[in-house]
Amino acid sequence: KQFRDGLEKTRKGFIEKVSDLVIRRKKIDEEFYEELEEILIGADVGVNTVMDLMDDLRAEVKKRRIEDAADLQPVLSEKLMGLLRDDSSNELRENPDGITVILFVGVNGVGKTTTIGKLAHRYKQEGKKVMLAAGDTFRAGAIEQLEVWGERVGVEVIKQQPGSDPAAVMFDAVQAAKQRQADILICDTAGRLQNKTNLMEELNKIFRVIQREIPSAPHEVLMVLDATTGQNALSQAKLFGEKSGVTGLVLTKLDGTAKGGIVIAIRQELNLPVKLVGLGEKMGDLQTFDSEQFVHALFA
Ligand code: GDP
Repeated sequence: KQFRDGLEKTRKGFIEKVSDLVIRRKKIDEEFYEELEEILIGADVGVNTVMDLMDDLRAEVKKRRIEDAADLQPVLSEKLMGLLRDDSSNELRENPDGITVILFVGVNGVGKTTTIGKLAHRYKQEGKKVMLAAGDTFRAGAIEQLEVWGERVGVEVIKQQPGSDPAAVMFDAVQAAKQRQADILICDTAGRLQNKTNLMEELNKIFRVIQREIPSAPHEVLMVLDATTGQNALSQAKLFGEKSGVTGLVLTKLDGTAKGGIVIAIRQELNLPVKLVGLGEKMGDLQTFDSEQFVHALFA
């Protein structure tokens, strides 16, 4: 239900466009293929993926001797579903015997703080004791913004002065979490993505500090990406994601874009799972990503 509402724009701007095309052109000819290709690329499915998909569709049309566009539509849906299919669980990893530590990285404005707030809320709803660490000491206002969410959700925020060493904040936060017997510690980081070395160095230092106290931590390192930036989000993830210890992606603002095809592009081009999706600005607008549900919300 939440997926359906959140994906309204993508359904209208992508899937319904395909239906309109099918109704309008009726026959499968070169123009049909061209328009279909345009729709797919426009929905941010990704050029490489679209090219493969088009080859695949042409072959299928030949093989099955399909002539009517209407008969191709289910084939297309099937192929798109196939591209997304993923049996692995996207549930966040938890520490079975102690504090679960989750780190967040992402560039400004992607929705990192909001996602941290939403996730804290979700864990709290599950009856867990949650704490937040204000590890983004770099960006002006980041600490206050996290505190606002902390208050809203009703969880404690561990912080230091702006400009202080993020690793020191993490050390404090882990100590505090141990003392208060917290279940979940969610850490904001500056996770500066401007350059790869910075990000890795900062994260490595944070990893070391946390691991000294909790050897199995961090249990997740989530990179937040803004779905409305489409292919930009994909290149960010490509550049920084795979080798910097990131364990999963969060795709925010899916409700605000018709380009939900980005989920397909990410799935095809990256070795990182989308674990969470943001479907609105409110506390409850966060979902564990489920490819089956995603596909259903689009096509059902
Ligand atoms: P940060 O700079 O990465 O911490 O970004 P913020 O958490 O401050 O979010 C930036 C803006 O995006 C805010 O106005 C949020 O309300 C908005 N936002 C975050 N997540 C979502 C989402 O899933 N859907 C929508 N529509 N807006 C979102």
